[in-house]
This record gives sequence, structure tokens and C-alpha cells, in this order.
Amino acid sequence: MKVLVINAGSSSLKYQLMDPATRDVLAKGLCERIGIDGRLTHKVPAKDQKFEAEIAMPTHAEAIEAVLQALTDSDHGVIASMDEIDAVGHRVLHGGMAFTESCIIDDACIEAIKECIPLGPLHNPANLMGIEACQKVMPTKPQVAVFDTAFHMTMPEKAFTYAIPYEYYEKDKVRRYGFHGTSHRYVSARAAALMGRDPKGLKLISCHLGNGSSLAAIVDGKCVDTTMGLGPLAGVPMGTRAGDMDATILEYLMGRYGYDIKEMLTILNKKSGVLGISGVSSDFRDLESAAAEGNHRARLALDVFYYDVKKYIGAYAAAMGGVDGIIFTAGVGENAAGTRMAIASGLEYMGVKMDEEKNNTRGKEAIISADDSKVTVMVIPTDEELMIASDTAEIVSKL
Ligand code: ADP
Repeated sequence: MKVLVINAGSSSLKYQLMDPATRDVLAKGLCERIGIDGRLTHKVPAKDQKFEAEIAMPTHAEAIEAVLQALTDSDHGVIASMDEIDAVGHRVLHGGMAFTESCIIDDACIEAIKECIPLGPLHNPANLMGIEACQKVMPTKPQVAVFDTAFHMTMPEKAFTYAIPYEYYEKDKVRRYGFHGTSHRYVSARAAALMGRDPKGLKLISCHLGNGSSLAAIVDGKCVDTTMGLGPLAGVPMGTRAGDMDATILEYLMGRYGYDIKEMLTILNKKSGVLGISGVSSDFRDLESAAAEGNHRARLALDVFYYDVKKYIGAYAAAMGGVDGIIFTAGVGENAAGTRMAIASGLEYMGVKMDEEKNNTRGKEAIISADDSKVTVMVIPTDEELMIASDTAEIVSKL
């Protein structure tokens, strides 16, 4: 089955055409500057081919048309016609409490995604634009929505409840939701396979460390806690997002500088995290170089990040009553050996023993703990597109 995976942003749209059974990625690419002018980058991995073009994309519908044109092109295309696409799978950020798993997109599903807009005000409208564009351009193709929040819906009440007046949960659905769920689901399943264990009976901590970062505590293959909250601002410090902080800071800074809440949130979302501490960059590679050259604030930003990730690993081991495996994934987790070592060292008391040589790896599945480590530490490259394609194929095959 060939599935077109779509991740639509407000002015961009990423796509992959893949066969989830063979994991073959036939083509992938990116539409940018939608609504401004329009630019397509299309890649065919098997042929190491890249095609770039300026194409007018006043809306997401023209972007999808450009994608279909590229996929069927006589030069850089990979299919003869649109008929070869069996289904479309969409990444949707916020499924609220309505979605505990992926689902076929029908009118009721679209309504429910719309109802989640207040919870995901930046992403859900963009995701909907992608869905509506596909419905317009490919009206007969079955479409599936895969939610970033769905994997976390197994969290127990005590983990998702905020200690604020309960009516805000009852009336306004204020609770911890968590994100990167598709990634945590994928890597935790792969971790069980790599350990040669059934997910049942396993206690895992998944560290998705990228530009945005979150950790998840996973028991029996199900999420029991995660660091992000109602929105993706909570948890560990990120590239530009603050992570956990004292809400008193808002009132204090808004009072001192006269910021309104929008300005304050822009600071917390875009100017904070390791960028905010270092003043150097949100990119961990830049921070490592600057720290190596003696930049104190770059060193401090990295140290705060390592410390907070380590603290959550400790917290989740406590929450689960132990841990069998720790997973590192996403841009930083998959590539930065020094970061993994800095986070995992000092955890010997809980049975973590790293192997420096094995840890010297990047971008491929590997066990990086010592053979006699009680806790298996792993690098598992995430593959959210594959998960989206697999869910889509599974749901569509049952129609
Ligand atoms: P996103 O959250 O945008 O999907 P990614 O998972 O792609 O982000 O991660 C991007 C981050 O990965 C960047 O901040 C970059 O610094 C980091 N990264 C990529 N390669 C390396 C590397 N070799 N060493 C350290 N950090 C890396």
C-alpha cells in the first residue's frame, strides 16, 4: 500500500510517499512559503535525486497539487498516476480528550479537530488546511488523522491533573496532554524489539530531544506520564522554549516591562530555552562548539538542559517504581553522544552503566549501555512518518 503522509504547517507542508510494509520512502519533500509565493523541494531517495521549483501556492490546495505533479512527473516522479496513492495520513497536533488513537477523517472527525483549536491554536488550523486541501484535490482518497497527543491519553488521572481549581478541568479541559506521542510510541515499540522483550512488563523512559523536547514514562507499552502539558511549552528546556518555570515570573516581568501576555509568551516560546540562556544559538551543535571555546553561557545552557533531563529520568523511575530501558531519540538524542553521556552519567545508582565506545554512534538503532548494565540505554532514530503511514494503512485496510 502506498500512503502519502502530510504534515501541514501554516505556511509549509512536508510530505512523504511511502510503503509502510516495506518502509520504502519513494519520495519526500517540502512546500514552503504557502500563501506568500511558493517553493517546492522534492527528493527521490532511491535515485539520490532532488528537484526544486518556484510554484505559485496561494493556498494549501495548490501546494498539494504541486506535490501530486512532482510525484507523477516523467523526470522526478515515482508513480504513474494519482491512482497509485491508496490513502493519505495526516499529522495532527492536538486531539484533546476526543482522540485516544488515530482515526479515519470524516465530518465528525473534522468537527472534533476544530473543537481542539483552542488547545492547539497554532497547529490545528494549519493541520486542517492540509486535510481540506487533500479532500479538495483528492476527494476519493481515504484520509486518516494521527494525533501527537493520542499516545499520552493512557496517563492516569493523578499524572494529568493540574493542581488548580478542578472546574477548569471539568469545564475547560485543562489538563496535561503531552506531545511527540507518535515518536514516543514508535521508539518505545522499537526499544522493546531491540531488547528482545515483550512491551508488557517493560518500564521505559523515552527521551525525545530535538528542537522541541519531551520525555515519556511508558509501562507495558502505555504512556503513564510525560513532560509536556496542555501545550508544548512545559517540561525540559528546549531550543527556544522555556520548559517548566514558575508562573510568578510572568507577573513579575510583565509588571516590570509592560509586556502583554502575547509578548510574554513570545519570549517564553521563541527567545527562551538554551537560546535564551546562552544568547548564542538554539542549535545544540553551535552550543557545543561555543562551550568548547570557553563560552560560559553556552556551557551553562547545556548544563541546565542535561540536569533537567536527568531530573525527569529520576522522577519517572520513581513514578514507575524502576526502569528497564532509557531511549534517546530525535535530532539531539540520535546524534549527540556527549549529551547522552552527560545525561546518563551519574545514574549508576539506578543501574545505568554506559559504554563509551558503544555510545560513540549516531543516527542508527543501537544499545549504548554496557553489557552488564541493569538498565538498557538505547539510541533509536524516530520515524513519525512511518507510524503515520502504518496507522493509515491499518485503518484503511479495515474499511
Ligand atoms: P525538531 O524538534 O525540529 O523535529 P529535530 O529532532 O530535527 O528537531 O532536532 C533538531 C536539533 O538536533 C537541532 O537543535 C540540532 O542542534 C540537533 N542536532 C542535530 N545533529 C546534531 C549533532 N550531531 N550534535 C548535536 N546536536 C545535533
